[in-house]
Amino acid sequence: MADKTNQLRRIRNEVVAIKTELAEQRRKGGYYPVIGEGNHDADIMFIGEAPGKNEAEQARPFCGPSGRVLDELLQSIGLAREAVYVSNIVKDRPPNNRDPSADEIEAYAPFLERQINIIQPRVVATLGRFSMEWMMRYFDVVAPVPAISKVHGQEFSFTAAYGEATLTPLFHPAVALYNASQKETLVQDFLVLKKYL
Ligand code: URA
Repeated sequence: MADKTNQLRRIRNEVVAIKTELAEQRRKGGYYPVIGEGNHDADIMFIGEAPGKNEAEQARPFCGPSGRVLDELLQSIGLAREAVYVSNIVKDRPPNNRDPSADEIEAYAPFLERQINIIQPRVVATLGRFSMEWMMRYFDVVAPVPAISKVHGQEFSFTAAYGEATLTPLFHPAVALYNASQKETLVQDFLVLKKYL
């Protein structure tokens, strides 16, 4: 556990010092990078997209409105937030909550890959299409990468450096903020995770 903590701390230090456009804007704006948080031995790891304003102010993933939806979804299957690990593919906030670019994803994804290999989850639940697409490409899960609307809630095996694990693509919790039927879909899809409790 101490070793995992040290390895994750090293990632934090590297992200703090990274030289990207987003990191420059983070420094100018007085924001923080968001590395991830939770149980370093989690069986379930969630991967979102990128920090929003709340997250970049508090250095915590999913602590704004999307985070409240995530907490509700976790609660709906009796899962404590402390039991899981929550991270994002991009560690610095894209301005005005725009989508991360392909270059930004490429710049930050190596940190995520290391986090996955440190935590060694049995299941990676991606939140939204950006982290799903990266996981599917990086771990060569399915090609061509399908639309999230076709595969949300399904389970795919992938081979990580530490062994076989499962990828479960889920919609991003933000969709539930403006679409009640998407929220119901998320509630149903979360039930897939119950078997990892
Ligand atoms: N949306 C994300 O994808 N990640 C966060 O941490 C917050 C909102």
